[in-house]
Amino acid sequence: MAYANNRILVTGGAGFIGSFLCERLLNDGNEVLCVDNFFTGRRSNVAHLSANPRFELMRHDVTFPLYVEVDQIYNLACPASPIHYQFDPVQTTKASVHGAINMLGLAKRLKIRILQASTSEVYGDPVVHPQTESYWGNVNPIGPRSCYDEGKRCAETLFFDYWRQHQIDIKVARIFNTYGPRMHENDGRVVSNFIVQALNNEPITIYGDGSQTRSFCYVEDLVEGLVRLMNTPPEVTGPVNLGNPMECSIRKLAEMVLLATGSQAGICERPLPQDDPRQRQPDINLARQVLNWEPTTTLREGIDLTVAYFRGVGGHPDAK
Ligand code: NAD
Ligand code: UDP
Ligand code: UDP
Repeated sequence: MAYANNRILVTGGAGFIGSFLCERLLNDGNEVLCVDNFFTGRRSNVAHLSANPRFELMRHDVTFPLYVEVDQIYNLACPASPIHYQFDPVQTTKASVHGAINMLGLAKRLKIRILQASTSEVYGDPVVHPQTESYWGNVNPIGPRSCYDEGKRCAETLFFDYWRQHQIDIKVARIFNTYGPRMHENDGRVVSNFIVQALNNEPITIYGDGSQTRSFCYVEDLVEGLVRLMNTPPEVTGPVNLGNPMECSIRKLAEMVLLATGSQAGICERPLPQDDPRQRQPDINLARQVLNWEPTTTLREGIDLTVAYFRGVGGHPDAK
């Protein structure tokens, strides 16, 4: 499905998901303005796009106002990995809250559509399983994950208040754990950690006993969902869950990575971090209905693509 000829702002566009989104939007025939402060993103993630005359990269922090002229906004700017978002928690909340205010202000001035990259973390440590969009969540407001979880929750609040109060055309995607090439090798999230450890022949670090679950979505499947959501009729605001409903324990993931890499270094256990959610699985019936979308890449295939990227041979998407 191609939605062409728009000038599209992608905040956080030099990050892991953002770089795939920029690439996809360019391939569809759009102009892309990628705005990033390079906190966790890298120029190298979008270096292969820089020769394209329809691509522009701008260093800017979304906690400050931004005056540009565009037709659509994808707001992804925010560190997403716990080690990165806990490095400067005040800045993390600001990225979500001030960032949302500024981007909504921009959307209001230009009367344009804006999509927010929200997160499954708004459900916290869920007591409803799997999580549907109507579940309000179970979030600790004062813990080490709160800067991210509550920041994203407040951003959702702002989106819906700008929609009710100023009739801004909004889309809210609740993204579940996503993985793939271009994750930072020191990102700290589980898939990249496990693959990097296995490729270095170090034991894979399972936090806790590994019985906790997550549901992992391959990045290009996720980007397809984001683009479809952006292009729905105005009455579809979301929130819409985007993720892969295939639930997997962390121990099972570790075993799959050992198999995919051929590592002999095995597994070791480390303490479970505070407030680590026990289980997580998206209910994606709404996305199936309104976006006609579901992930098509299996965890096995996605791990192979990601391992190939981290090996630096053949599987790097830029080499395609
Ligand atoms: P990432 O850390 O690779 O990307 C975030 C990008 O935002 C980086 O390029 C970073 O430099 C940039 N950024 C951070 N603060 C900024 C600021 N103040 N101003 C401008 N740029 C800033 O992470 P990602 O996994 O690509 O996540 C992208 C978005 O998707 C985030 O909003 C994240 O919360 C959301 N999300 C991701 C996942 C996931 O599993 N990857 C799950 C749920 C939600
Ligand atoms: N803003 C921006 N770019 C614009 C328009 C607004 O960054 O093109 C910022 C501006 O800093 C403002 C915020 O968005 O503080 C919210 O804008 P809004 O119009 O909602 O609020 P107001 O300007 O009335 O405080
Ligand atoms: N995890 C792990 N080993 C690692 C990194 C993470 O066992 O090296 C666990 C972590 O405790 C959590 C799960 O993997 O239960 C997913 O962690 P991640 O940080 O990727 O995402 P989130 O907790 O934000 O869903």
